[in-house]
Amino acid sequence: MSTEQKRIAICPGSFDPITLGHLNIIRRSAQIFDEVIVCVMLNATKTSPMFSIDERVNMVRRAIAKYPNVRVETSSILLAEYARQYENAVIVKGLRAASDFEYEFQMNLINKNINPDLETMFLTASEKYTFLSSSVVREMATYGADLTGLVPNELIEEIEEKAKHWRKS
Ligand code: ADP
Repeated sequence: MSTEQKRIAICPGSFDPITLGHLNIIRRSAQIFDEVIVCVMLNATKTSPMFSIDERVNMVRRAIAKYPNVRVETSSILLAEYARQYENAVIVKGLRAASDFEYEFQMNLINKNINPDLETMFLTASEKYTFLSSSVVREMATYGADLTGLVPNELIEEIEEKAKHWRKS
């Protein structure tokens, strides 16, 4: 590997919506890697997302605006296949609890089968975000709870607005 080659981190997820927990992992990755790609996955197994893919991408874009080496992409194919286009990429994921570990361990084995060169690295969740997930945010928003400290401030209004309609549907 030449020394000029950029090290790229891919942070994948559904980001439905992006939370401060996600952003914490993205920000820390941006300090370690030359470039970070936040990959919003069109996950076939997660049915009825709260936000459309365009809305999710848009929210990620606003949340990462202050990080010059972070950008957002989307993928509807398997992560291990998607990552092939980047020669030097590493998957970076956040680990919150033992349950995350079991799932991620399995996913890593599957990814390795498809793309043996692809490595996955894990960053442990920051203590204050250990219990934060997109589903917690969706649930809280649906009940009209205050989202301060859970999602980026600039996204609160959009999430609250969406939750109002979500409640009715
Ligand atoms: P969620 O599990 O919240 O629905 P995603 O499927 O979008 O989120 O998760 C994408 C990645 O972000 C996963 O690696 C997940 O472990 C990580 N992640 C999600 N929430 C947090 C958090 N609060 N702290 C650290 N990592 C997180």
